[in-house]
Amino acid sequence: MSGEMDKPLISRRLVDSDGSLAEVPKEAPKVGILGSGDFARSLATRLVGSGFSVVVGSRNPKRTAGLFPSLAQVTFQEEAVSSPEVIFVAVFREHYSSLCSLADQLAGKILVDVSNPTEKEHLQHRQSNAEYLASLFPACTVVKAFNVISAWALQAGPRDGNRQVLICSDQPEAKRTISEMARAMGFTPLDMGSLASAREVEAIPLRLLPSWKVPTLLALGLFVCFYTYNFIRDVLQPYIRKDENKFYKMPLSVVNTTLPCVAYVLLSLVYLPGVLAAALQLRRGTKYQRFPDWLDHWLQHRKQIGLLSFFFAMLHALYSFCLPLRRSHRYDLVNLAVKQVLANKSRLWAEEEVWRMEIYLSLGVLALGMLSLLAVTSLPSIANSLNWKEFSFVQQVFYLLRILSSPLYSFYTNLSKL
Ligand code: NAP
Repeated sequence: MSGEMDKPLISRRLVDSDGSLAEVPKEAPKVGILGSGDFARSLATRLVGSGFSVVVGSRNPKRTAGLFPSLAQVTFQEEAVSSPEVIFVAVFREHYSSLCSLADQLAGKILVDVSNPTEKEHLQHRQSNAEYLASLFPACTVVKAFNVISAWALQAGPRDGNRQVLICSDQPEAKRTISEMARAMGFTPLDMGSLASAREVEAIPLRLLPSWKVPTLLALGLFVCFYTYNFIRDVLQPYIRKDENKFYKMPLSVVNTTLPCVAYVLLSLVYLPGVLAAALQLRRGTKYQRFPDWLDHWLQHRKQIGLLSFFFAMLHALYSFCLPLRRSHRYDLVNLAVKQVLANKSRLWAEEEVWRMEIYLSLGVLALGMLSLLAVTSLPSIANSLNWKEFSFVQQVFYLLRILSSPLYSFYTNLSKL
């Protein structure tokens, strides 16, 4: 871990709260770390690289010293906590009580709790890890921070991965100190309030795509409904009425007919809540009133619904490209040719049919192109580079084109099937 990583990223300089660089005192600020595991090693590397003087407290410093950057001092726990004012506790909750022998030396210092509970622990304990640590060390100030940053992200640096560090504590001064440290390490601190919020902060790494659950269920529900309808119409009905076996259509044709229906409905669901919200405000005669909860949630999920619409539209494009590759399609073509020969027809060029298909494909490609643009501009990294006027311009152009192209596209979709 020595070499390049030992070099300070911000050499003898720290970042002020306003983002500007400021000279640090000649003596680099000393920071303690309790624990010598994965997180402690990555944290020490980043702290050393950011110009801090680091002292690591381990139960077995001889064994672990070689794993840390050469500029970090690795020693016994008692020695490590004696001089720094800020100490990171990089050990698991179940081992907090083993640190109680250090209580006298830790008194009056800032303890940074970086721990993450497992799902089981989170449900089991009513008290957050940070509050538990505070109860064990009442003479210390506990700050919850850095738990949302993985050891890997710490080591790779803030330019690669999540930059936000969520911070909470009952002491504003301690929160400020840790916020400045986070900034000096290249991260963006986010004040989450008092230590009572620690439970919420600790739950964040446990969540699996929380804002995608409802939109995904909605998309799946729509898919099942449309698929069932298309299956009955294109497969079951011909089987019952004309005894035609079209079950081979189930994996590709029926799926492909279903995909644009889901994409369209999802796209409409992106814009519908905005219209409903505007109508509600007009009816109430004010914008200073809360929307009902269902509308509020709907408005908050528009981005996810839009991206799912894009996903289904992309699948539709891919499936459509695959349709001519099917064996059944080739049989159809051969049958058509045979019929043509038997009917003694030399040319089967229906001008109207050809135009329909050309326009159908052209509108589909245009719609997909616009949807791609909209999906890309909704990504935070791109959206952040656009000002409000540019963002709303893209939205308005898309909205206009959608209004114009959707009925046309559906019209041609249906015509092309006739
Ligand atoms: P780890 O690799 O297992 O390290 C835990 C360290 O705790 C050990 O190396 C050990 O160091 C120390 N320790 C102190 N007292 C102990 C005791 N009584 N029994 C056993 N170990 C004791 O775990 P980690 O991944 O570094 O995680 C450390 C903390 O950071 C956890 O609370 C975790 O939730 C949090 N965290 C980790 C990550 C990550 O990506 N790894 C991300 C966010 C938060 P010594 O043997 O040298 O004393």
